[in-house]
Amino acid sequence: MAENPSYTEVICAHCEGLGCIYCDKKGCVPVKSPPKKCRRCEGAGCIYCGYTGWAGLKGKYE
Ligand SMILES: [Zn+2]
Ligand SMILES: [Zn+2]
Repeated sequence: MAENPSYTEVICAHCEGLGCIYCDKKGCVPVKSPPKKCRRCEGAGCIYCGYTGWAGLKGKYE
């Protein structure tokens, strides 16, 4: 598939932009556009969203 999804930088829900190990200390993470909160934890952070609170995290589970 030649699909090329675009990504949007969103604030990491775990550290709220301060920077943590889950967002590589950047405070934001690239997720597939349009950004959607993780529906398993509703943005709180869980193992499925890499603790960022977002679904479609780049390079992780998709
Ligand atoms: Zn973070
Ligand atoms: Zn989650």
